[in-house]
Amino acid sequence: CGIVGYIGQKNTKEILLEGLKELEYRGYDSAGIAVLSNGVFNSFKATGKLVNLEEKTKDFTTDKFAVGIGHTRWATHGKPTELNAHPHVGQNSYVVHNGIIENYAELKKELVNDGVTFLSQTDTEVIVHQFEKNLKNSTNTLEAFKKTISELEGAYAILLVTKGEKDKIFFAKQGSPMLVGINDENEKYFASSDTPLIGHATEVNYFEDGDYGYVSSEEIVIYDKNGKKKEPRFVKLDTNK
Ligand code: GLU
Repeated sequence: CGIVGYIGQKNTKEILLEGLKELEYRGYDSAGIAVLSNGVFNSFKATGKLVNLEEKTKDFTTDKFAVGIGHTRWATHGKPTELNAHPHVGQNSYVVHNGIIENYAELKKELVNDGVTFLSQTDTEVIVHQFEKNLKNSTNTLEAFKKTISELEGAYAILLVTKGEKDKIFFAKQGSPMLVGINDENEKYFASSDTPLIGHATEVNYFEDGDYGYVSSEEIVIYDKNGKKKEPRFVKLDTNK
């Protein structure tokens, strides 16, 4: 299972698919991507090998500036079907997640009571609906995201994109690895291990447990588990792996 994310001027679809290929060694049963292009998010999912996802995306091209997230899934909750593959979608947002949301059943029950329709059997899908519920009661996307994270129990590396803030990727890390890499071409690369970043990023910041925030092409904003803003700590990417 793995996660990738990208903000930059290059071919976002290709970068996400290449990144997922670098994570294949971790094992997976299905894969998916969500990419913003021409102001619209497009999502593609496929079971089985990445060639199936490549096939589904072959006619999809992105415009110059794009934002995207991708995932290879190792099912823990819900069978390895296309519907259960990530990204999971709400009304305006997409999420990818590695790990397990231990309290998903409680959250799901409340959301279903509120009238939310679930499309999958995964634990992950609660994240996107809980976020959108919080967003309705908040004027600030980051606040809604922070509240959502505080309501989750378990292990996660999460990337989320949402229509209200199209230039950003929101992230959170607890118990599952994730890092962000940069270079002097102003690109931002997320991944769950450093292998997809080799040849792309020069410096990387490994997120710590409890870290959350957002990344745009201009900034990397990180808060710690106490909600205190912290500076990224970049280290040179070790390319000898
Ligand atoms: N628990 C999630 C699921 O079953 C994520 C699994 C993963 O880490 O790939 O969909």
